[in-house]
Amino acid sequence: MKPIQLVDLHTQYKKIKEEIDAAVIEVMESTAFINGPAVKDFASEMEAYLGVKHVIPCANGTDALQIALMAIGTQPGDEILTPSFTYIATAEVIALLQLKPVFVEVDEDTFTIDIEDAKGKITDRTKAIIPVHLYGQCAPMDEVMEFARKHGIRVIEDTAQAIGSSYHSKDGSTQMAGCIGDIGTTSFFPSKNLGCYGDGGAMMTNDDELAKKLRMIANHGQRIKYYHDIIGCNSRLDSIQAAILRIKLGHLNEYIHARQEAASYYDRAFANVEQITTPYRAPYSTHGFHQYTLKLEGVDRDGLLDYLQEKGIPANIYYPVPVHLQKGYTQYGFKEGDMPRTEALTAQVISLPIHTELTEDQLDYITTHIKSFING
Ligand SMILES: *Cc1c(COP(=O)(O)O)cnc(C)c1O
Repeated sequence: MKPIQLVDLHTQYKKIKEEIDAAVIEVMESTAFINGPAVKDFASEMEAYLGVKHVIPCANGTDALQIALMAIGTQPGDEILTPSFTYIATAEVIALLQLKPVFVEVDEDTFTIDIEDAKGKITDRTKAIIPVHLYGQCAPMDEVMEFARKHGIRVIEDTAQAIGSSYHSKDGSTQMAGCIGDIGTTSFFPSKNLGCYGDGGAMMTNDDELAKKLRMIANHGQRIKYYHDIIGCNSRLDSIQAAILRIKLGHLNEYIHARQEAASYYDRAFANVEQITTPYRAPYSTHGFHQYTLKLEGVDRDGLLDYLQEKGIPANIYYPVPVHLQKGYTQYGFKEGDMPRTEALTAQVISLPIHTELTEDQLDYITTHIKSFING
């Protein structure tokens, strides 16, 4: 059996090596390293894949969130609703722009934002809500959109973990994650479902005005070179990364399928283990399984992590500390006990190896060892 990795990018690369190598060399030969044709081509192909009007590439998923917050015209002191159970980037950009993160609980089954809790946290300074499609499954976007429309606030979807997932709306329509709110943001960090070989990110929108703004902000606030109408930043996707992403986009559905197959294997293996809750599948979303995350009950999680490490099975906790309790974020006035569901989840979750290259013998090895630890 091959050694097990949390994410096996090497085996994946070997399968598409010829195409990737050729595409990278083509960019090097062209020397169009910045904003070369590969960047435009990738953006149009991504627009077609997502069925969205504009895809604006940028340097990473954190920049995408920051640029999105700038584009909706936030002012220092404005409040932004976002879950505390997320990767730090979602909250970090809010703080960096001198806005106020207002942390919201998540649903304990879907791990995504709980709109009931958000309802009690809206004020006249609330400017936007950032739902996070955590682990690869969409937040309840019908509820998010209804809530946002009612209060006249903007919606920025953090789609870094759910690119390629789709949302089935109450009205019968289906839309891709990241294309429902005002702006969607995503990351092409190597381990993401659509990952490049370095850093990369993008913003998605159907709004022409917002698209113009996003493009300008990502490009030093200019539309015409050396004329800076607004304050922007420098956030670009490299041509080499775009060339790689064009190839990987062609495999995205197959990659998601491979993750779903591994997830189904895990589901079946743990179906009768009382101490394990396998990931809940929301009826309104597909699940891209960026992470396969279990909830444990009555299991010594640290002991399990040590045991798995001994057996050569990497596992991880996403995330061990909720953002509202992170040291750097105490200034926002949240304390332990403020978000009991989120706090309980951070003590319960464990994410197993999930990627496109998992084999049946690896899955069997992983599940057998987890069950034998739990059953003593
Ligand atoms: C990965 C990730 C980001 C940030 O992406 P980078 O490209 O690493 O900046 C933001 N939000 C979530 C939920 C993520 O998982």
